Amino acid sequence: MALRTLASLGSLAGKRVIVRADLNVPLRDGIITDDGRVRATLPTLNALLNQGARVVVCSHLGRPEGAPDAKYSLEPVAQRLSELLGKPVAFARDTVGESAHDAADALDDGDIAVIENLRFNPGETAKDEGERRAFAQELAALGDALVSDGFGVVHRKQASVYELAELLPSAAGFLIEKEVDVLDRLTENPERPYTVVLGGSKVSDKLGVIEHLLPRVDKLLVGGGMMFTFLKAERHEVGKSLLEEDQLDTVRRYIATAKERGVELVLPVDAVVAASFSADAEHVVAAADALEDTAFGADGLGLDIGPETAALFAAAVRDSRTVFWNGPMGVFEMAVFAEGTRTVAKALTEVEGLSVVGGGDSAAAVRQLGFADDQFGHISTGGGASLEFLEGKKLPGLEVLGWQA
Ligand code: ADP
Ligand code: MG
Repeated sequence: MALRTLASLGSLAGKRVIVRADLNVPLRDGIITDDGRVRATLPTLNALLNQGARVVVCSHLGRPEGAPDAKYSLEPVAQRLSELLGKPVAFARDTVGESAHDAADALDDGDIAVIENLRFNPGETAKDEGERRAFAQELAALGDALVSDGFGVVHRKQASVYELAELLPSAAGFLIEKEVDVLDRLTENPERPYTVVLGGSKVSDKLGVIEHLLPRVDKLLVGGGMMFTFLKAERHEVGKSLLEEDQLDTVRRYIATAKERGVELVLPVDAVVAASFSADAEHVVAAADALEDTAFGADGLGLDIGPETAALFAAAVRDSRTVFWNGPMGVFEMAVFAEGTRTVAKALTEVEGLSVVGGGDSAAAVRQLGFADDQFGHISTGGGASLEFLEGKKLPGLEVLGWQA
């Protein structure tokens, strides 16, 4: 079943519309260091404002403990939003109290207000359904309809994401619509060859997605910290590199499944091995089957895929028509271990077809390495949400908007 879209709500002129956005931006000393998520909400907000809706924006920011905490105030975000929209944005100092009601009541057609952090209220993330519902009811008093557009939280059953959408006429905004559209193309009839590149730090985090994707892809490329568990499963010694011993059997099962299904599982043939985990550590390139044969012996740490692997992965990516990438190929935060990630990112920009980057660190990596968002088919704003979507899990924040996978 399809997602209810904005159009399904009919004319919203003069109506108070709550927008559940994901304005959870990184902040340093009250300064927004990346406003990507604020920008991502603009199409929906502009569409509503242009049709004369009275817009009340809500979001979480960080992880306050269910009580007000000045360092997680949305006020700087409301300011940034005002600059980006080029119009005043009112700010309410509470979420469902007097200030929020005053702000909502003061709106004229085409006006907009932001209310304070949803997570200043314990009801937002309460385990108890009744508590969530009670908080959702208080939120519902601020609007006549809900437009849900915070893709990063659709995998969470939280008051503003789930219960609120049941209480008010509700629909998905343009951001959620776009995310679902792209991720759905990866699950339903992707153009082939379809290649998935996985990296990052933990195999166990990504097991669900490997299990679900293996039967669906043509090639699976494994780099990042998780590659060492695969190499060890193939009986290579990996020194002090990241290794999840307890996942070895599972990984061996994946290797066997890939063989049975004719899926090409591509493991690194070389890696950058360092003497220690630091930006100026001594490092060398070693073959995947000789990671302990360097000067560092069994103390060596694999911190990036090697150049031969990077070239191999890049070629596989470029030859594909659909590519999904999650998880950096190495410790990209240190420039010397960012080359594998850079080479794979570059190859993604050259794909003729659909290329998708998912995951918080992966998105940060491509931006930090100087790539522009529009060089990729899509950069997902939701890390956990996009992986759970690809795992085929039911996402409460989408189901409540009519979506059925
Ligand atoms: P995402 O947020 O995109 O899903 P993850 O959170 O799974 O990605 O992983 C990101 C982290 O993985 C980065 O901080 C990166 O430094 C780390 N990483 C990548 N390769 C290695 C490696 N070989 N050893 C240790 N950490 C690694
Ligand atoms: Mg991460």
